[in-house]
Amino acid sequence: MQAILDLTIKDLEYYLKSKGFPNFTARQIFSWIYKKAIFDFERMSDLSKSLRNFLKQNFYILGLALIQKQISSDGTQKFFFSLSNQQVIESVFIPTPRRLTVCISTQVGCKFACRFCASGAQGWQRNLTSAEIIEQIIYPAPFFGTKFFENAERCGIYLKTASARVVNNLVFMGVGEPLDNYDHVLKAVRILNSPDSVNIGARKMTISTCGLIAGIQRLAGENLQVELSVSLHAGDNQTRTYLMPINKKFPLEKLLPACRNYYKKTKRQITFEYVLIQGINSDLRQARKLTKLLAGLDAKVNLIPVNPFRNEFSRPNKLEILLFRDILLKAGIPATIRRPRGVDIHAACGQLRLRSNEDYKRDFEGDLSAAI
Ligand code: SAH
Repeated sequence: MQAILDLTIKDLEYYLKSKGFPNFTARQIFSWIYKKAIFDFERMSDLSKSLRNFLKQNFYILGLALIQKQISSDGTQKFFFSLSNQQVIESVFIPTPRRLTVCISTQVGCKFACRFCASGAQGWQRNLTSAEIIEQIIYPAPFFGTKFFENAERCGIYLKTASARVVNNLVFMGVGEPLDNYDHVLKAVRILNSPDSVNIGARKMTISTCGLIAGIQRLAGENLQVELSVSLHAGDNQTRTYLMPINKKFPLEKLLPACRNYYKKTKRQITFEYVLIQGINSDLRQARKLTKLLAGLDAKVNLIPVNPFRNEFSRPNKLEILLFRDILLKAGIPATIRRPRGVDIHAACGQLRLRSNEDYKRDFEGDLSAAI
């Protein structure tokens, strides 16, 4: 059995043709799955009986089991899915007045163990497949009503919250390092970007990395208009290595030239993410170092007051955050401050995977899917 979500429309066309089915059936199947959110081959009423039987014998649509959904007081929704071996992954739907962002995971756990992030605290288990990455977006469709995919032509998925919205923004900022699972992430991007599926614009997808240079170089050659975010978090190597062990392997003097090359090749502005942590990286000397690092690079900075985990780190006060931002602005570097979302359900940046698989297994012993 194969995951049908792993296939591009071309893959499916090619495969079905080789089995004697007409080309156009691939488009019909994509439309059922991605535009109508029908995840049962039997219900695809315009397919022949023999094709439906063939599909049932060879493919499955959903491979994850939804085990829990949490809704924050600010409207953010977090979905917990279990994989076949009962490992748990999470995705977060974040409505804002102008857009609906979905934050998805790319790995089970994370290898990179940034000191302030819960996602790597229990290590890394495995990469997610393209199908598992895509499924985090399309599985919740029925929960948002039948209109979920109605606007797919215009890009997006319908969310029924207090006010209706479409998914028009996708960030690879959940658990895991997207560029450490490069092939599956890029394939998922291409499938989601396709007009035959969800049709989310490449420019509405952001790949966030802790700074894996080979991945940044590869991405520069893809000819894709995806957004790149680089998690920087410090203006000098000593502070960055303390916060992010990966900095030992790819220190600033290697990372920044890779970013400059990326910009030169793609002409696409990079966003640098900077988690602000009281007493560690939020003083104005760090801000000045940051402006020097980014000088001449057409970049912007997204400041993220840290979402504490393990009580180890805290946010600077508002004044310090504003002063930090002002130094960047005065140096001509656009800088924004990210508002935390979903903190009460541990859905904010760095809070995913606060609980262990063992916690989930205890809570949902037996039939996991019965717990929804
Ligand atoms: N591995 C990728 C993507 C996952 S993390 C990366 O490192 O970019 C997504 C973003 O959330 C990163 O910028 C990360 O540094 C940030 N983040 C992690 N823990 C956080 C925390 N406790 N508070 C605020 N932001 C955090």
